[in-house]
Formats: sequence, structure tokens, C-alpha cells
Amino acid sequence: MFSDKAIINLINIKFTPEMSRIFFIFPVIIFVICFLSCNNSSSDIKEQDVELEKKIESLLSQMTLKEKIGQMNQSFVESEDLEIINNIRKGKVGSVLNVAGTQNVNLLQRIAVEESRLGIPLLVSREVIHGFKTIFPIPLGQAATFNPELVKECAEMASIETSAAGIRMTFAPMLDICRDPRWGRIAESFGEDPFLAGEMGRATILGFQGDDLSAETSVATCAKHFIGYGAVEGGKDYNSTSIPPFLLKNIYLYPFEKAIEAGTSVIMTSFNDNDGIPSSANEYLLKQLLRNELKFDGFVISDWNAIPEMIIQGYCPDKKEASMMAVNAGVDMEMASGTFLENLEELVSEGKVSEASIDEAVRNVLRIKFRLGLFDNPYADSSRISVLYANEHLLKAKEIAEQSIVLLKNNNGLLPFNETLKTLAVIGPMANAPHDQLGTWVFDGEKEKTVTPLKALQESYGDKVNITYSEGLSFSRQTDKSGFAEAVRIAGKADAVLVIVGEEAILSGEAHSLSKLNLVGAQKELISELKKTGKPLITIVMAGRPLTIGDELNASDAFLYAFHPGTMGGPAIADILFGKVNPSGRLPVSFPHETGQIPVYYNHNNTGRPATGKEMRLNDIPLEANQNSVGNRSYYLDSGSKPLLPFGYGLSYTTFNYDNLVLDQFKIKEGDTLKISIDLENTGKYRGTEVVQLYIRDMAGSIIRPVKELKDFKRITLDPGAIETVNFTLTTEQLSFWGKDNQRKAEPGAFSLWVGSHSHHGLQSRFILE
Ligand code: BGC
Repeated sequence: MFSDKAIINLINIKFTPEMSRIFFIFPVIIFVICFLSCNNSSSDIKEQDVELEKKIESLLSQMTLKEKIGQMNQSFVESEDLEIINNIRKGKVGSVLNVAGTQNVNLLQRIAVEESRLGIPLLVSREVIHGFKTIFPIPLGQAATFNPELVKECAEMASIETSAAGIRMTFAPMLDICRDPRWGRIAESFGEDPFLAGEMGRATILGFQGDDLSAETSVATCAKHFIGYGAVEGGKDYNSTSIPPFLLKNIYLYPFEKAIEAGTSVIMTSFNDNDGIPSSANEYLLKQLLRNELKFDGFVISDWNAIPEMIIQGYCPDKKEASMMAVNAGVDMEMASGTFLENLEELVSEGKVSEASIDEAVRNVLRIKFRLGLFDNPYADSSRISVLYANEHLLKAKEIAEQSIVLLKNNNGLLPFNETLKTLAVIGPMANAPHDQLGTWVFDGEKEKTVTPLKALQESYGDKVNITYSEGLSFSRQTDKSGFAEAVRIAGKADAVLVIVGEEAILSGEAHSLSKLNLVGAQKELISELKKTGKPLITIVMAGRPLTIGDELNASDAFLYAFHPGTMGGPAIADILFGKVNPSGRLPVSFPHETGQIPVYYNHNNTGRPATGKEMRLNDIPLEANQNSVGNRSYYLDSGSKPLLPFGYGLSYTTFNYDNLVLDQFKIKEGDTLKISIDLENTGKYRGTEVVQLYIRDMAGSIIRPVKELKDFKRITLDPGAIETVNFTLTTEQLSFWGKDNQRKAEPGAFSLWVGSHSHHGLQSRFILE
């Protein structure tokens, strides 16, 4: 950001002493009453918000058109950028992004508050996706915890750190449903399931925003990207989507509905065009869905430069028309390009954008600024900086990393290690990669604070076990195998071999899509070489996405998937390996056998010829066979119909048994609540946590319903031998969906229901909605 010299220069600039901030000079009550009763283009305004709306109207009534347009502009701050200072002073900037540090934030804020004509404070925003300084697991890893309460606690801590640096808005949570791990941004998502994403998104919003948005530790959230961005063609970032209306509403919209219910302050439009219409110009999405149906009353921001990019997309001929399209569709603030600033005044004078639309956008922006308490407390308190990397934040980061790690295999109870282990060989490019284990979209977390698995093993278990180390490969993409010999040598001398492989942080995230999902570089060969030593082999993958790990899973005796686990990933892994923690993560997304199997996701529709029973493989087909619609089923002859690992899957050091599934009734009516119970028993030797998952299938609908839909889950911790009756309730609201008549309702008919440990498991029952 700004150097000291630049700050001094900025402070020395001569400012005009125009400081006429008179906020509440006109009696606006009559206008407000009219606004509250007549305005139906915006959302319903609650009784308790009347005072707030009065303040907004009062301020709005004093604003010039230029100042209004300024509030619709979010500028990014580059180092030593003097133009922004002048723009802020002239009231041309409503929000800034990419600025951090109380000194820098307060410097800009002071100019807005003390030197712009109306003194409207800036909204300072930044990417805080999975932690500010203390980095928590990537969102995909957070989703693997199936623990919204914990996700909320982490967001709370992230907001404490974020706000201590003067930032009051984050561009999180990302709520894009993703069925394609080629898309690099799957790392930032909560996976493939709308219900899980909704729960996690809600938790993130509640954590960041707290009970009171005006508290100095609260940070406004921005749910993104509205909408469908996770469905980009072939997983290529920024691409088009083809999401038909019912799919859009039943799958992609759901987490945003939950976000609005949770009170997200901001929603960001997505880069993709759906069926030819870019989201930032889609009036149906931004007005009909968001405002009229979902009653969203915060502001809508475009994604970075997305408005002028509609020209490149081929939707608008020039920036002026792009601005017109965006505002008329319902974008309230423009990120980064300055296009609104350049064009809106002229568009208003030509009558192509109404001043009423501008007013509406500004209201939405000011509403959030007032809710954040920025008018009363615009400045950041520099004394709060000690909360960065607070011990309780690091402990929480460890706890969530522990719960995000998924045990995929554990032959013969190899893990946890016991006292027979004297020497452990630690190998692999991710065993000691402090930058890469933090994962994508980290701007502020420092690798110096990362505790890697190697370091944690040495520090916490090095006194009991001889920990030897050889990286084998120094980074994930490396193809030079000169490090193999030493790695194999130390493996040969150890009692067990731990290899930690995966993806560098930069291989997932925005604009980092892949067409192949196998381990990159020579990691596959490294694992094969280590396998040849005959020593028990434990593989851990740290990655931003599901990888095609079938071969490595076969080669390994035990296997953990750790996603990118963040600052405290190392201690979490060490304690799991040594049994201090029993793994409880579950996959938030299906893992494909092959890239060509994508999309493979659990909540798909059935075909009339679904894959059932034995699936024929290539070699089952006789030579010169007559054309016979081989197999008559919907699957691939080479990789089948099933994923390598299903959604919801994950093991524990202990085992669980499900028994006695009971429904309190088999026929329910609209408005009823079905009570479901099941007995869960810990049948193994360790205390452990099971994620009990409830799925349903609506057997016939006015549009085809998915073969399974997650409706609820519960984390249950049991001692060995203990049995607990786990209870769920299911309302008819939870059975509802957008059907053929474009109404959201539960349709009468038969339902199947499963309670089990993942999407391909469970005891089954049925019931009827009359
Ligand atoms: C991303 C957004 C992000 C924005 C600002 C864009 O490229 O798509 O998710 O919030 O940049 O950093």
C-alpha cells in the first residue's frame, strides 16, 4: 500500500476547506412515509428500519447527481495512487477495495469524512475468504467439517482480525454450487450440495456480521457470485453457463436464499452469461428474483470489471451501454472499472437511466453504510491490532482443520500410530510447504506463521518418534526426480512412510482451472517408488479440489484428504496421525475416478435407464458384437456411473452402526412435521464423531426430482460401545421445490428417505405426502 513517504505527501496536499456536512436539514418524514408505503420496486422495509430510511432519504435529498454516482463506484487502491485521493475528496468514491491497515484506511476515510462535501464515509472492503491473518482451511475444507457452528466461530474470528485492520466488508462467502472440480474456484466454494452450501454460507454470514452490524468488530458480507458461476462450461473460469430456470431456482439459488435470510449486506454478480445474458445485465435475476421475490435490501455489486467486460462478451457495444444495462438491470455499485463514473451522468441526462434508478441504488448502498455504523464511527481503532493471530484464533484454526480432514482409507487400523512406531519417514512436496498449505485467495496471512505437518510432527512427537524427512520433490509440479533416491532411502529405514502431496496453492482458485485432475509433476511416481519399499504407506493430499486419486488410494495403506488446511494444518494433521484427534471430515463433493466422468454429483436426476446392477466394462464386449445398445444403461464403459468417492463420505478410527430407523408416521399432510429417529452405535474402539446424514427422494414430481437430496445432518460424538438415538424432523417446507407451475411447494406423492453415513449409504424408509 502507501509508503510512509506517500502518506506524508498525501497529507501535505492542500485541501479546500469545504466541509459543509449537514445531514438532516430537511424534514423528510412525508417523503419517507410515501417511500415506505409506495415503493414496491425495493424490498419490504421493516417497521424498525423507519428511522434508518429517514436518514437515508435525508442524505439522499442533499446529494447531487455526481455524488450519487460516486456512491455507486468502488475503486481499487493501488500503491501510491493519488488520483483516488482526489476522487474521494470530490465524492466520487463510495467504496474502496484492496486497502488494509488502520493507517491507510483512516487516511482515506478522513478525506471522505472531513473533506468531501457531504462527508459520507467510505466502505472499505477486502478479500477475506478464509481468514485475514489467521488462515482457516479453504471454504471447501470448511464445508468438509459439516459443522456450521464451527464455521461461524471462525468467521467471527476472521471478522475480529479484519475489522482490526480497518476493513468493514469482505467478499465472502462464495456460494457457487460446483459440480466440476476442474474449475479452480471450487476451492472457494462449499461444494456440490445446495443445503450444505446454504448452511455454511449462513454460518459465515452470521459469524462476520454478528448480531449487530454496527459493532466495531462486525464485517459486512458479500454473497457471491450471483448466479451460476460454479457451472461454467467445462470448468473453464469466466465461461458461459447453461442453467435452465428450474435448475437455477432449485439448486443454484438455494444458498443465496439462505444468505439473504441470514442478512447478507451485499450480493455480487457473477462473470458468466447464462443462456446469453451476463448476470450483471440480467434484470430478471437482479430485480425479480433478488428484490421482488427474495426481498434483498442490501446492495448489489458487480464483479471486478464485469460491466465493461460485457463489451468483450458481445452483449454491449460500448461502456455507456454497458453501464445503462447494468444499472437498469439492478446493479447498485460497480467494482474497479470506473465505468459508472464515466457514463451515468450522461445516461441520466439522456433519459436512458432514470434518476429514480440511481436513487434506488444509492439508497441500497447508504443503507449498508448506516447499518455498519460508519457515519458514527468511521475510523478504525489502531490499538486493536493485537488481535491478529490471537492464540484463540490459532487454536480455532487448528480445531477446524482437524474437522476438515477426511480419512479415506485406513487398512488394518494402521492409523492412529501406536507405540510400535519408532521411526517415521516424512516425504513429499507438501510436507513442509508453509505458503502452499494456506490455499488460494490469501492476501494477508503470512507463511512465516504457518505450522507445517513436518514442523508439528517434529515439535509435538519428535521426542517419542524419530522423524526423518526428505522432500522427494520440492514442489508439487516438479518433474525432476533427483530427490527420489534420498526419499526412498529414508523410507526404507522407517517403520512407516508418510507422503504429503497435492497441489500448490496457486493451482486452484480464480483463473486456475485444469483439464486433468491427476497429481501434478512426478508425485504419482514418487508414491509408486515409496510403495515399492513395502513399508506401511500413509498418503495425505493437500489440494484445492478433488483430484483423481484412485491409483494413490490403492497404493496407500491409509489416506487422508486435507484440502488446503491453513495456518494450523500441521498440528491438526500431527494430532490426527497420532490419535489425539479422531478424524471426522466428510467429503463436500463427489470425487471422480476420471476427469472424463465429470460432472459426477450425487443429486442428479434419474434417466429412464439408470445404471443399476453390474455395469459392463469395455472388455466385457465381445469382438465384432452386433449393435445392441450395450448395457442399456446410463454410464461410461470405462469408468462406470459411480464416483470414486461419494458426497458425504469419510471414515473414522472407530466404526458406527445404524439401526432402527423409525418414522412417527407414514402419511403426512401439508404443514405436518415428520419425526425421524435412528439408533447410532459406536461399534469400534475409539471415541469418535459420525456425521449422520438425512436424504430424501421425491419419487415423482411435476419436474423430475433428484435421486437424493440432503435435507439435514448432525455431528454425533460417541464413546466406544455407546448408542444414541439421533432425531431429525422434516417439514413439508423442506420437501418443497420450484415445480412446473413455477410455485415453490411440496407436491403430494411418495417419498423415499435414508439416514446414513454418506450419499450412497443409509437405512431406507418411505412416506407419503397426501
Ligand atoms: C473475483 C471476485 C472478487 C473480486 C475482488 C474478482 O476477480 O471474481 O470473487 O471478490 O475479484 O477481488
